[in-house]
Amino acid sequence: IEQSAYHNDKLAMLGKIAAAIAHEIRNPLTSIRGFIQLLLPELQKLGRGEYGRIILDEIDRANEIIYEFLNSSKPSAPDKRKVRVAELLHEVTLLFQSEALLKGCQIDVDPIDDDIIISVDTKQIKQVFLNIIKNAVEVIGESQPERGGRVHIRVQRSNDSVWISFRDNGRGMDAKTLSRLFDPFFTTKSEGTGLGLSVCYRIIKNHGGTIQVDSELSVGTTFRVQLPLH
Ligand code: ADP
Ligand code: MG
Repeated sequence: IEQSAYHNDKLAMLGKIAAAIAHEIRNPLTSIRGFIQLLLPELQKLGRGEYGRIILDEIDRANEIIYEFLNSSKPSAPDKRKVRVAELLHEVTLLFQSEALLKGCQIDVDPIDDDIIISVDTKQIKQVFLNIIKNAVEVIGESQPERGGRVHIRVQRSNDSVWISFRDNGRGMDAKTLSRLFDPFFTTKSEGTGLGLSVCYRIIKNHGGTIQVDSELSVGTTFRVQLPLH
């Protein structure tokens, strides 16, 4: 869809204003969180500890939404450096070990050639991997644990690109979900932000890559990220 330059300018401006507001809201939230935490023992004495914990959880949720939003509205230009794909994936999968274990989900990474090197903004690309794996672990977590959830990560080189695939055996998606999953704020989760994949899409596009998805209901989903090699 073609958009007019005027429309794009307006969107960019709105994004900047929203990012500034989101940033400013974070500071008061942080102090509210701190004080509630200090009050927690008093609330517990009153038999109201549960209220305190709900407040903390909700503040965390608000923070998460702001965090994801700020990430998605950040100006594009990636801050690139040379890095091994193996290293990035190793760092990200480590973050999931305890959560995956808890949900009876196994994360397998096939051996990766050490000489597969990309030139990327490592923070942004780690965010992409994280968002994709997080969705997979979440979708596995909601299915019956006896199914033996698995996220399978493979890295392949082809010509001057690297393909990184993330396959899960979660419930898959219907056609309607598939057609909208990269839209900002599209979510099927009661606690979702719907920003994860729109952020991924943007980051990968800014790196000159592509992101594709294949999904089959009650079989699973595969995300494929393609990035230019260094
Ligand atoms: P959120 O996780 O906050 O819902 P995302 O942008 O990360 O937002 O994902 C959007 C939607 O795409 C999810 O709500 C879910 O319906 C669908 N989705 C993403 N990844 C998967 C997956 N691996 N399996 C099934 N559905 C998925
Ligand atoms: Mg998500």
